[in-house]
Amino acid sequence: MTIENHYSPTEIAQHIAQEVIAPLAAKIDREQRFPSEAFDALGKSGLLGLLVPKEFGGLGGSLSDLSAVTQVMGQACGSTSMCFLMHSVATMVIASRAQTAQQQEYLRSIAQGEKIGTLAFSERGTGAHFYSPEITANFQGDHIVLNGKKSFVTNGDHADFLVVVTNASSPDIGLDMLLVETASPGVQFTGSWDGIGLRGNNSIAVEFTDVKVPLHHVIGKEGDGLDLIFQVVAPTFILGIAGMNVGLAKGAYHAALDHAKARKYADGRALCEIQAIQFYLAEMHGSVESASLFVQNAARAADAGEEAAILSVMQSKIQASEQAIKVTNLAMQVCGGQGYTSALPVERYLRDARAGAVMAPTTEVLKEWVGKSVADLPLF
Ligand SMILES: Cc1cc2nc3c(=O)[nH]c(=O)nc-3n(C[C@H](O)[C@H](O)[C@H](O)COP(=O)(O)OP(=O)(O)OC[C@H]3O[C@@H](n4cnc5c(N)ncnc54)[C@H](O)[C@@H]3O)c2cc1C
Repeated sequence: MTIENHYSPTEIAQHIAQEVIAPLAAKIDREQRFPSEAFDALGKSGLLGLLVPKEFGGLGGSLSDLSAVTQVMGQACGSTSMCFLMHSVATMVIASRAQTAQQQEYLRSIAQGEKIGTLAFSERGTGAHFYSPEITANFQGDHIVLNGKKSFVTNGDHADFLVVVTNASSPDIGLDMLLVETASPGVQFTGSWDGIGLRGNNSIAVEFTDVKVPLHHVIGKEGDGLDLIFQVVAPTFILGIAGMNVGLAKGAYHAALDHAKARKYADGRALCEIQAIQFYLAEMHGSVESASLFVQNAARAADAGEEAAILSVMQSKIQASEQAIKVTNLAMQVCGGQGYTSALPVERYLRDARAGAVMAPTTEVLKEWVGKSVADLPLF
C-alpha cells in the first residue's frame, strides 16, 4: 500500500498498524527490541518520508498528519510510535532549513526509506534542560570536532543520522544543530534500553570522540539552534507525542471495554453490567475523546499558523500525557488481576504511557511555560 494508490498518510498507517505493527507489539515489548519489521514496512510505504517536502520525493505531510499517524501507531504499539516520532522530528529539522545540496540529498534518501534518523539532545548532566549542552564542538577549518556524550537517543544504533544540539562557535552566537552520520569515525553507541515501558524504543547513549562534522552539515545558519528548537522541534515533537499518548489511551480504553464485555461471572452477568465499571468506562471514553479533540485542534491551529497555536500546542502534550496516565490506570482497574498480567495489553499501555510526562519538555516545564504565557510573563 503506497501513496501512489491515493491513500492518506493516516490510512497507510492504519493498514501497516493492522498488518505489521499491532501483531508484533507484545513481542517487541517482551524481547525489548527495535521494531525493524515495522520500519521496513514504513520505509516501503513512503511513511518514513511523511515530513519530507514533495519536491524531495516525500509525502509533504502536515503536523496534523503526524499527530494522526503517531496516534494510530501508539494504539498499536507505543515503541514503534516513539521510534517513528523521533525519526520524523529529526527529518523535520533538516526539511525546515535544508540549504545545502548534501542535506537535500539526505531528504531524498529519507523519503525513499533508506535512512532512519533521531534527535540526540539530552545529556546526563543537563537532563530536561537540553538547551544548555555540555558536549564540546570545536570549529577547525571546514569541520566541527565533537567530543562528549548524549543520552536517551531513541532508535540508537538503528539510526543512520543524528540531529545533535551543540554550542555554536561562540556563546554570543548561541546554539547549533548538526547533522551527524552515525557511520562517522568516533561515533559509538553504548548501553541498552531498560525502561519500564516503550521497551522497543532502543533509547541508548552515544559517545562522540573527535568526530569530524563537515560545516555543510550545520542545519540552517550558525546560531539557528535555539530558533530551530522552538519553531521546529518543539511543535513537531509535542504534537507527535501528544498523538502517541492519545493512541495509548485509546488502545487501553478499547482493550478494557472488550474485556468488560467478554468477561462473564458464574451468574451470567458481564463485567460491563456492573455500575462501577460503567462509570470507569464513561470516564475513559470522555478522556480519550477530549484529549483526541484537543490534540487535533492544536495541530490544525499550528498548521494554519494561528497566533494562539503555541499555547494549544504546549497544552496538548500536558493534556494527552495526563489523560493517557489516567486512562491506562482506569483500564487496569476495569480489568482487575487479569489486566495486571501480560494476558491483556493494558499493563503495556500503562507502562508506555508513563514516558510522555517525563520526556522534555516535561509536564512541569510545560506547565510553567503555559502559566507564564497566560499571565503575560516572559518564558525566560
Ligand atoms: C523513552 C524515552 C525516550 C527518549 N528519547 C530521547 C531522544 O530520542 N532524544 C533525546 O535527546 N532525549 C530523549 N529522551 C530524554 C528526555 O527527553 C529527557 O531529557 C530526559 O528524560 C530527562 O531525564 P532526567 O532524568 O535528566 O530528568 P531531570 O532533568 O533530572 O528532571 C527530573 C524531574 O525534574 C523536573 N524538572 C527539571 N527541571 C525543572 C524545572 N526547571 N522546572 C520544573 N521542573 C523541572 C522534570 O520535569 C522531571 O520531572 C528520552 C526519554 C525517555 C524516557
